[in-house]
Amino acid sequence: MDDDFAWREPDTPSPGPGQMLTRTLYLSLDPYQWGRLRSALEPPGDACHGRTVSQVIESNLPEYAPGDFVFNTNGWQTHGLTGEGVSVFGYMSPRKLDPATAPISTAVGILGMLGLTAYSGLVVQCQPRPGETVVVSAASGGVGQAAGQMASIHGCRVVGIAGREEKCAFVRDELGFDACVSHLSESFADDLAAACPDGVDIYFENVGGKVFEGVLPLLNRRSRITLCGMISQYGNTDRRDSGEAWREAGQPYFDRQDVVVHGLAVRNFVEDYQDRFLGEMGGWIRDGLVRYREDVWDELEQAPAAFQAMLQGGNFGKTLVAVADDPTLDRHLRDHRAAGNTLGAVAG
Ligand code: NAP
Repeated sequence: MDDDFAWREPDTPSPGPGQMLTRTLYLSLDPYQWGRLRSALEPPGDACHGRTVSQVIESNLPEYAPGDFVFNTNGWQTHGLTGEGVSVFGYMSPRKLDPATAPISTAVGILGMLGLTAYSGLVVQCQPRPGETVVVSAASGGVGQAAGQMASIHGCRVVGIAGREEKCAFVRDELGFDACVSHLSESFADDLAAACPDGVDIYFENVGGKVFEGVLPLLNRRSRITLCGMISQYGNTDRRDSGEAWREAGQPYFDRQDVVVHGLAVRNFVEDYQDRFLGEMGGWIRDGLVRYREDVWDELEQAPAAFQAMLQGGNFGKTLVAVADDPTLDRHLRDHRAAGNTLGAVAG
């Protein structure tokens, strides 16, 4: 893996007209970035794509001043230009962040693309109703923890699926899911069936493969699935493990039970739902109804190792790299993080 990355130290660029220079504070690591690397969307030699939280150093944009905190897309870089003529992959526009409202790291996590993904799939597509059983895979991860807690808020019985027991305990005890079963257990399918005595009304799919096969026989009539991701299959070139195969395996169950399957691409929800999502999620977090856990790695040099760990389940919560010191982080949160515990809620 290390051989796949090379470090370069170019001069820090100067912002031209309509541009600003920012220092990266947090880099978000996400599974989709692997697909971009593998499919040559990122030509060798280019900086890897990544969403970031940054601080403005120099600005030729009237709406941004030095010192401001922003969500932007600096990629795997300590500094970057944002604005006119700067080409970055991304469908989420730069925006200013208010550290008094929420810890700024949340802009690439629970209050960012991940939270919006969970909201779009669970709330907008599947429309949960009180009393329904919702199953969420990769339940302790960035998207999963948000989706499951939103299902609880909507009055559902929520069952998580995660890997090691420490993660399952976190999902049950800290996030308040009704149950969580481990896909690593030999009795996984039986454990899941026992945790869903009334079957499954909504499945939030993050994983695919064996985990999906365990859910299939439990699907209720007119149940709904959000096909958010299939991380267990990423990197697999065998057609038997593809999304098509996923649908073929599920089709008899989908037909028999009249299941509605939603594909999900979060970029399609930004324009219509981002503001509504930020309002609702911000309120839930402030009211203590939603908590979140971040897995923060220090220093950009750790990005390849952190990325690999995330793809193999080595992360515990939303994976971030702290590229530079966050000046808004108070002593309490710093100590909290140093102790390896980043479970948080947004300040009121
Ligand atoms: P994450 O859940 O924080 O991290 C990935 C987790 O996946 C790992 O911690 C691991 O959890 C689980 N995993 C990895 N390999 C696995 C395997 N072979 N079998 C079972 N579980 C495995 O990542 P995230 O960023 O929140 O993303 C979650 C999913 O959402 C991904 O599939 C991603 O591609 C998808 N996504 C989709 C969209 C969209 O627009 N559709 C947007 C964002 C994310 P355990 O240790 O618990 O197994």
